[in-house]
Amino acid sequence: MKTPLKSQSTENLRSWFENRHHPRYRVGQLLEWIYRHWAIEFDAMSNLPKALRNELAGHFDLNSVQSVDCRGEKDGTRKTLYRLRDGETVETVWIPSPRRRTVCLSTQVGCPIRCPFCASGRDGFVRDLAPDEIVDQVIHEAAREEEAPNRIVVMGIGEPLLNYENVIEALNVINAPGGMGIGARRITISTCGIVPGIRRLSKEGKQWNLSVSLHAPDSETRSVLVPAENRYPLEEVLEACQVYRDRTGRQVTFEYTLLKGINDSQKQAFQLASISRELDAKINLIPYNPVAGLPFECPDDGAIEEFVGNVEEKRGKITVRREKGGSIDAACGQLRRRP
Ligand code: SAH
Repeated sequence: MKTPLKSQSTENLRSWFENRHHPRYRVGQLLEWIYRHWAIEFDAMSNLPKALRNELAGHFDLNSVQSVDCRGEKDGTRKTLYRLRDGETVETVWIPSPRRRTVCLSTQVGCPIRCPFCASGRDGFVRDLAPDEIVDQVIHEAAREEEAPNRIVVMGIGEPLLNYENVIEALNVINAPGGMGIGARRITISTCGIVPGIRRLSKEGKQWNLSVSLHAPDSETRSVLVPAENRYPLEEVLEACQVYRDRTGRQVTFEYTLLKGINDSQKQAFQLASISRELDAKINLIPYNPVAGLPFECPDDGAIEEFVGNVEEKRGKITVRREKGGSIDAACGQLRRRP
């Protein structure tokens, strides 16, 4: 089997070129083709000698995904289904806004967590994505839009901290100056609260933004909404967030998907505010995006406003995430393995 090229760090590639006595500047040329021009064939790399292109093609696998379906909305949001080498598929979303071009990445085929309100775990879990399968989602999005994204959110299908090594390897390539060059502060990793993963992440020496899916301020409600609560209880999750904040100096964000009659009471708003104050963390409120066949509802606008008002009354920091892509099922929690 060939070596997946986009899983390689710049250092690895340098040694490969050095060992074969190719001049060092060729690595820069290669990286530029891949990460600035999004080339998916060696033959497109016109300033590399033909012999080198052949040698590279004989050793490396340059591309790991193929776009098989793409749906767009008027607001520019696009959801793409990518087929992987083994025929499995994942979805990726491109979300434009006046100043940002965001790619929302998937990290696993299906999701093992199975939060009852989310579409991603409904067809079960198949496997982790390899680093190049994660990087390639970004490259293909950039190639189609003819523009590089300037923000990455790891909020697609899968639990990134259960595919820790591959996700970090991929993010390092996306972040590397010789790779996509997207700053760590422009990359957000969202987790359902895998405590060992959060602790490990706090030691990477990187400034990734950390988002934690809280969804309830008390363990009892949370254990219904986020099954990982039974393994990693709220208290430990919050402790790990504190460690992340202390070690990286980065503010942690809590995602809170508002579900009618389940986590939208005044008491829960007050408790949430107290968590936000204690950890100096921001709450990102996501009004529930309906998933066909699931028995959850989004509170009406008045109730959302009231919840926000209650959190603010107790000095919690909260913003509402207004979703894009709802009509093409590209919003939070609507991505799945198959369309
Ligand atoms: N597994 C990671 C990445 C998913 S990120 C995590 O749990 O954080 C997507 C966010 O959207 C998570 O907070 C997830 O719980 C939330 N979500 C899932 N389904 C949703 C839905 N239907 N409506 C709104 N938010 C949803």
